[in-house]
Amino acid sequence: MKKIGFIGLGNMGAPMAANLAKAGYEVTGFDLNPVEVEGVARAASAAEAARDKDAVITMLPNGEILKSVYAQIVPAARPGAVLIDCSTVDVDSARAAHQMAQEAGLLSVDAPVSGGVGGAAAGTLTFMAGGSEQAFAAARPLFDVMGAKAVHCGPAGAGQAAKICNNMILGISMLAVCEAFALADKLGLDRQKMFDVVSTSSGSCWSINTYCPAPGVGPKSPADNDYKPGFAAELMLKDLKLSQQAAEAADAATPMGRRATELYEQFVAEGGAGKDFSAVLLKLAQSGRD
Ligand code: NAD
Repeated sequence: MKKIGFIGLGNMGAPMAANLAKAGYEVTGFDLNPVEVEGVARAASAAEAARDKDAVITMLPNGEILKSVYAQIVPAARPGAVLIDCSTVDVDSARAAHQMAQEAGLLSVDAPVSGGVGGAAAGTLTFMAGGSEQAFAAARPLFDVMGAKAVHCGPAGAGQAAKICNNMILGISMLAVCEAFALADKLGLDRQKMFDVVSTSSGSCWSINTYCPAPGVGPKSPADNDYKPGFAAELMLKDLKLSQQAAEAADAATPMGRRATELYEQFVAEGGAGKDFSAVLLKLAQSGRD
């Protein structure tokens, strides 16, 4: 496999495409915004980027856009090509995209990622994939370039299911850590001491150990950069809403997921949209018990 089309060269897509080009693949990119990515040739349309490629990767904002882009690239791709969608979208849109690909004789994988912009640039993303064994095997060499780990989670949509569950845990755990820091403040407990205890105790989790929401405490995180994302609160809200949409459709009980969605909805409505999702600590630290 040599030739790759890459559609959606935003914060995540651009560094992922650049890493493929660096690894020796011939990459042709398309984005509605004309962006320059090192080593990546520019196509005039999504269809042109997909034409005559061995693989076509998409990294787009949501399921509606994904389906509209698939309507352009599926007829343009050559039979046997593998379509790899790395966007985070709802499970139904992911399955609809698979269906479009399958009807045209194309292989397809839903392969959302974890690891953020830093992981995309460093080539250390985790891919969670859904689709056939054959499609996963075809996509694997590209996952190995763009990431450190790829898990084949199951059939079509299973990658998105894993992503939604992971990010529901993340949203809930970040709120829990922010609440604990706000409570610790009011109890007169030093934030550094709180980190020293919790990060090696049973309350430890990624949201405190790796991405601590308290500035000046723990490893460097967006809290140390005035809460510039990182992972924006509005993207967290998007993923939490996807979890609730999926829970509704599957009749699954997710009371904490529902509450986390409400709290991020509030935070975003109050002006937190463009802040990192860990900035909820600022709000909680200033609030009293309601
Ligand atoms: P982004 O907004 O920076 O990039 C999306 C790109 O898609 C933009 O450049 C936009 O111009 C382009 N686009 C939109 N519609 C298009 C179309 N019809 N044709 C071609 N290009 C089009 O977003 P991002 O941060 O790169 O995120 C992309 C996806 O990855 C999202 O689904 C997001 O949820 C997911 N994700 C993001 C992160 C993160 O930390 N940023 C982490 C994991 C997953």
